[in-house]
Amino acid sequence: SSEPRANIGVVGLAVMGSNLARNLASREGNTVAVYNRSPERTEALVNEHSEAGFIPATSLQEFAASLQRPRTAIIMVQAGKATDAVIDGLCEVFEPGDIIVDGGNALFTDTIRREATVRERGFHFVGAGISGGEEGALKGPSIMPGGSAESYETLGPILKTIAARAPEDGEPCVTHVGTDGAGHFVKMIHNGIEYADMQLIGEAYDLLRRVGGLEPAQIAEVFSEWNQGPLSSYLIEITAEVLRQVDAETGKPFVDVVLDQAGQKGTGTWTVQSALSLGAPVSGIAEAVFARGVSSHPEQRETVRPTVASRPEPQQVDERFVEDVRKALYASKVVAYAQGFDAILAGGREHGWELNPGEIAKIWRAGCIIRAVFLGRIAEAYGRNPELKSLLADPFFAGEVAEGADAWRRVVATAALSGVPAPAFSASLSYYDSLAADRLPAALIQGQRDFFGAHTYRRIDREGVFHTDWSGDR
Ligand code: NAP
Repeated sequence: SSEPRANIGVVGLAVMGSNLARNLASREGNTVAVYNRSPERTEALVNEHSEAGFIPATSLQEFAASLQRPRTAIIMVQAGKATDAVIDGLCEVFEPGDIIVDGGNALFTDTIRREATVRERGFHFVGAGISGGEEGALKGPSIMPGGSAESYETLGPILKTIAARAPEDGEPCVTHVGTDGAGHFVKMIHNGIEYADMQLIGEAYDLLRRVGGLEPAQIAEVFSEWNQGPLSSYLIEITAEVLRQVDAETGKPFVDVVLDQAGQKGTGTWTVQSALSLGAPVSGIAEAVFARGVSSHPEQRETVRPTVASRPEPQQVDERFVEDVRKALYASKVVAYAQGFDAILAGGREHGWELNPGEIAKIWRAGCIIRAVFLGRIAEAYGRNPELKSLLADPFFAGEVAEGADAWRRVVATAALSGVPAPAFSASLSYYDSLAADRLPAALIQGQRDFFGAHTYRRIDREGVFHTDWSGDR
């Protein structure tokens, strides 16, 4: 038989796998082996893309035989049982030292489990978060690989050929995030941050429309303008496009003909669940997940709406309002990212990953949904001080948020007085005010806990743990 020729393989050739395989094949130095359970998909891909020089396989044995050692294969199949089935199959035909990569959307705890099992059998297992959807897979995603440092020596250079490149410095958006589940964990938090970003933009839009009195097309112009400044990002850019869209059938703004119930596939929920377990308060992300939940309970909305006797009139606002909303959005966004990075670092401590927040910010600068100029600023902040306790403590972000704080307060107050929900704006402001407060009512809560449960408290003026006898004379 002939010498194996492929340096990388892809298993699972639905839309994500096909696009990733095409991306790999289009880069200098790569020869790509492809395999799919149903051979029709493999045939279709190879026939439609003869330029790619794919090496197709109809069995996993054949697939393994076409790969150079250490064999490196990226799995792109349904998360869950399908992924486990493919991993088992590859373990049958691969040899110790070979590298199995799961590029699907696995829950990081599954990745931790799989890595331990696969390592036991002598293989490397890499859970790689791949962000950017179908287009990213084809043109350049942001890639968050976990797994052993040794496997990254082989895998890293291959992933660098396909990763998106940051516009600022051309650096490929991939880094060895940490061991076992670190990559999928960081990808999960990325998705949580994405939820927060989208919700904050949604609240800004709602306020500009319902309080500011602007039409969707006018708000599109506002977002386009914001996209020229520090808020410049993919999400702001596409928001302007969505708001500009007119429904062909009715001639109405597209946003007015869409049912206002937001869907979700669960990664936001995973982020909040994990962050809660880690004791990391991600209130901005949580409010974004809750807001989608509230929106998708029409039965509750329809029963509560008629019971509200009087709705507040929108507050009168002046010419500062649009700029105030921009500042509120920016400050809230800083909080959401501060909380997201806190959760990342808490996960690192819990699971023994040496995570580098600056590098993580850097690989989100292109290829993924949250790509933004802003992420370069976060990388700089962690570059200035890798031990930063909160992004809000970084001199640059502290200054930016302080500068916008008055506007932020006016916007949150205006929203409340106008009866326009702004859960992520207000939760973010509360979080900021909590970190900034001299004293928190937590002291009173400690008193309550000591009263009913003898949970004890500490004092501001003495070392030690105290309990008050609440039954006696007071
Ligand atoms: P998909 O619809 O999630 O999965 C279809 C693929 O899985 C097909 O190749 C199918 O093979 C294979 N498969 C299913 N069960 C299998 C089994 N028991 N054994 C072997 N193969 C099996 O495909 P996709 O939409 O391309 O997504 C692939 C992965 O990427 C998923 O984990 C998904 O969550 C993730 N994803 C990520 C993004 C992103 O933006 N990062 C976007 C979309 C999807 P057959 O053809 O034989 O049925």
